[in-house]
Amino acid sequence: MKFEVFDINNLVRENIRKIKPYASARDDFKDFESEMVFLDANENPFNNGLNRYPDPQQIKLKEVIGKQKETLVENILLGNGSDEVLDLIFRAFCEPNKDSVIILPPTYGMYEVLAETNAIEVIKVPLSDKFHPEVENILKSVKTSSKLLFLCSPNNPTANSFNADLIEKLIREFTGIVVIDEAYIDFSQKESWSNRLDEFQNLIVIQTLSKAYGLAGIRLGMCFASKEIITILNKIKPPYNINSLTQQKALEILSNTENKNKEVLELLQQREFLALSIAEINFVEKVYHSDANFLLIKVDNANKRYGQLIEKGIVVRNRTKEISCNNCLRITVGTLEENIKLINTLKKLQ
Ligand SMILES: *Cc1c(COP(=O)(O)O)cnc(C)c1O
Repeated sequence: MKFEVFDINNLVRENIRKIKPYASARDDFKDFESEMVFLDANENPFNNGLNRYPDPQQIKLKEVIGKQKETLVENILLGNGSDEVLDLIFRAFCEPNKDSVIILPPTYGMYEVLAETNAIEVIKVPLSDKFHPEVENILKSVKTSSKLLFLCSPNNPTANSFNADLIEKLIREFTGIVVIDEAYIDFSQKESWSNRLDEFQNLIVIQTLSKAYGLAGIRLGMCFASKEIITILNKIKPPYNINSLTQQKALEILSNTENKNKEVLELLQQREFLALSIAEINFVEKVYHSDANFLLIKVDNANKRYGQLIEKGIVVRNRTKEISCNNCLRITVGTLEENIKLINTLKKLQ
């Protein structure tokens, strides 16, 4: 049953609710930065471009992101990769040894790793054989301790995205917070749920610069949610979690999205080329539909084919041990040259 009036305080851990946010002395003087002498933070005063602490709220970066995603700065939190964002969500809402979260395997491994790290029970409700959420089963398995429901769409490793009406029903009926992980949204035609934050107070949307933007190395994850949820996560994030170099590089790349859009288009073309070519390989039984920058394929013997590819110097991901992924390999879409090398290698395997 849903709360009559949604109050995030019913979900946040009690100790977190009581925390007063950490404030750096400098927060109060941001507008006068150039006129002030800063002797407050024990930095080295000699300017080398990085001698000062970074902006703990990353305002410039959030303004650019806000413009592009059509969200307000107050609805954004940035993390050291999405993995940090996920960790903050666990620590804000899940009481160790008491609360539970719901995941829909096969899915991204970090949800379970973080749950185990934080001593949180994991309730698994497998996706259907076509890799869609089983809404009735999910709602039936909810316990009073269930704080978070993770929906990864497009899903890793199955590559498909979930239907909007299924997701909407889950957001409306789940009594905790629904976390939608959109790491691969730029490769799909689906609209981001970040555009619907106004409608749902129990929604968190996560995106990243690690995939489409080509910036896995700088570690920048983005979290979009209600102002109330962002305020809670802000209270517990490390003050300087996004370093200056990451903020600079992200600003640079986000200020010119032409290149990213071009690369995404090319990867989408390559994905179709790869899917058609792989489907013709005689030991490939199935190439699943992909809304992401990778393909899930079913082969005759995943362990054997994985080993053979390694011998030829090509590393893919063996997912055969995951629920419903028997004999499945996950293959990232590479450059034209890399994809041709893969296809030629696959063709020659005995
Ligand atoms: C790759 C990936 C991420 C990205 O994590 P970062 O920490 O931002 O690099 C998040 N979620 C899923 C499902 C992924 O596959």
